[in-house]
Amino acid sequence: MKRIIMTIPEESSNQPEQTDTTTALHELGWDEKQENAFSRYTGPYIPGRVASRHKTVFDVLLPDETVRVGTSGALRRLGKVPAVGDFVVLLDQPETGSRMIVDILPRRSTLSRGAPGDGGSCQVIAANLDTVFIVTAAGRDFNLRRLERYLAVVHASGARPVIVINKSDVAEDADALVEETAAIAGDTPVVLTSAREGSGLAALGPFLSAGTTVALVGSSGVGKSTLINALLDDTVQETFDVRDYDERGRHTTTVRQLFSLPCGAMVIDNPGVREIQLGNAAAGLAETFADIAEFATDCRYRDCRHDGEPGCAVQEAVNAGLIPEERLLSYQRLVKEADFQAEKDDIGLKRLEKKKYKWIGKAAKQLNKEKGR
Ligand code: GDP
Ligand code: ZN
Repeated sequence: MKRIIMTIPEESSNQPEQTDTTTALHELGWDEKQENAFSRYTGPYIPGRVASRHKTVFDVLLPDETVRVGTSGALRRLGKVPAVGDFVVLLDQPETGSRMIVDILPRRSTLSRGAPGDGGSCQVIAANLDTVFIVTAAGRDFNLRRLERYLAVVHASGARPVIVINKSDVAEDADALVEETAAIAGDTPVVLTSAREGSGLAALGPFLSAGTTVALVGSSGVGKSTLINALLDDTVQETFDVRDYDERGRHTTTVRQLFSLPCGAMVIDNPGVREIQLGNAAAGLAETFADIAEFATDCRYRDCRHDGEPGCAVQEAVNAGLIPEERLLSYQRLVKEADFQAEKDDIGLKRLEKKKYKWIGKAAKQLNKEKGR
């Protein structure tokens, strides 16, 4: 059962239209950059935010309704696919009843993962996130190395990570878990919760202010849905079910969605980061391993891999017990993985570029045609 929650109270329709729309868009997480980018559109264009994706069609939140639309041929030929959380421009022609996505507005953050088997390109799984809750749980799931991996991915996305250790009620020594986590987390906040008992949730409040967008990532079973349910106050929110069918009427299940919490924050449920791959997270490694990066500035070689090179300050730090050896190994493994991914991406990109140039002329013509219609 899926639910989409309407964000706009009825009374808002009494307000002057312009302010109304702008306020509503801000409630959906719209920012200045997007507002500026949209300002060059005049005519039958309206902005909205992608709440979920069903193979080729998208549910888009508008200030006062949710519509299901496709993308323009021009956008498709440019290889541009909206992701959940994207702000998009719809061409809206009430006379013909036709509405479609013709543009994707600039993203303030992009959460992606490596997509093996499609030429190495990264798949965008959610856009315009402000904060990502990396959820783990006391017990079997708890694994510092996995947390480092998630941190790298989230740091690379441009969103702010927060580590949530859930199921504190079953932890033998919850404080020890927090301490161990804080040791690898750098500046990332660590929050201990029990979604089942409703404890610790208040500590998430500061990351859930109105107009911000958060996503929850983490292994299945750690309590993400339970957390979201605890944060939702069903008595305040009007909810309705949306059943998902693809074009042939088959029920689909791979839906990601965006909805609002009573506190005004938007949440992306299940953004599909199950088995997390590093994707293009190389950029996030320096932030995730800031301690290693700092020692590395004293290595003799600038491209030191801290793998037996002479004059390696990181190895020295490990020997001196300043960095746990497993942490260095984890770092090295992730660097290798990111390099491999980058190589795959490079090959994939070249292929994509070729395809793009072939289509770009045609796409431009098509776009003009659609605009002029
Ligand atoms: P998800 O796959 O991450 O969405 O995990 P779910 O929210 O479906 O939770 C998986 C299981 O863990 C369910 O049986 C929940 O009842 C249980 N669970 C969730 N949060 C807690 C918690 O704080 N403490 C305990 N003991 N169990 C929890
Ligand atoms: Zn070194």
